[in-house]
Amino acid sequence: MIYDTVLDAMGRTPLIRLNRLCEPDAAEILVKYEGINVGGSVKTRTAWQMIEAAEKRGDIGPDSIIVEPTSGNQGVGLALVCAVKGYAARIIMPDSVSEERRKLVRHYGADVIVIHDDGDIGKCIAECIATAERLAAADPRVYVPQQFENEDNLFAHKYHTALEIVEDAEGPIHGFCSGIGTGGTISGIGQTLKRLYPDVEIWAVEPENAAILSGGGIGTHLQMGIGDGLIPAILDQGIYDDICIVSDEEALACARELAREEGLMVGVSSGTNVAAARRLARKLGPGKTVVTLLPDTGERYFSTELFAGE
Ligand code: PMP
Repeated sequence: MIYDTVLDAMGRTPLIRLNRLCEPDAAEILVKYEGINVGGSVKTRTAWQMIEAAEKRGDIGPDSIIVEPTSGNQGVGLALVCAVKGYAARIIMPDSVSEERRKLVRHYGADVIVIHDDGDIGKCIAECIATAERLAAADPRVYVPQQFENEDNLFAHKYHTALEIVEDAEGPIHGFCSGIGTGGTISGIGQTLKRLYPDVEIWAVEPENAAILSGGGIGTHLQMGIGDGLIPAILDQGIYDDICIVSDEEALACARELAREEGLMVGVSSGTNVAAARRLARKLGPGKTVVTLLPDTGERYFSTELFAGE
């Protein structure tokens, strides 16, 4: 089969059973491996959905310049989609995101605007958003998808990621957990799972130093892509049954274990998700199924703590 563009090869990522990281007296854990998706992360899906919908609404045309504030992967996804579709792209990122993300965005031909993160990621993301708004006000060609508020971000997960999971799981899903960046993943997948399996237990997962849903403060942490220090507009705050807090150490250890014990090369937030999934699997017990996402590839983290000493 021949794909017309790389975007036609997006999605349909595999759902993989964890073997060594599962425990005998706990539920099985299935992980959706987005690191091998086109563009190396789950965010190609949301970039595609937001741009396609904007085209269909007539919000963008050939002269449009796509500008997006992002803590990383959404910028890579948008740069890729814009490369294929021929749009100019300008991505606004905190300087605390990995150097690999900035290089990837530039390599796909987009411009990068870097905003300094002085240790308060929430403030920095707010500044990224304000910069995008200023660019939009100054130039009518600028279109800002605004992933934190864009329902198409959520729809990409509700109708694509979630339905792939349901089809592949070959049976009921009893637990699901996810970290929150824009909240698109947990809200979209959560809404579909709750519709099909009303008793499914859903956990929102937060970094220890950015546990704002739990009433905590926001500080620096290493779980890039989640815990941005804001409660996103598209987050469905009624979708999760509980909140699980994961430390940087636990997330890093789990991401390393995924590579060494399961052969899954993943980023830190995948470690976060699986650390939480293991707790949920223990709670639900044997005979049950817990699903989580591995949002991106570990090859995006060479310059970070994940690869320290290697
Ligand atoms: N992990 C990583 C590595 C990400 O880039 C993102 C997206 N920001 C997430 C998790 C969280 O996904 P969402 O934005 O759908 O909440």
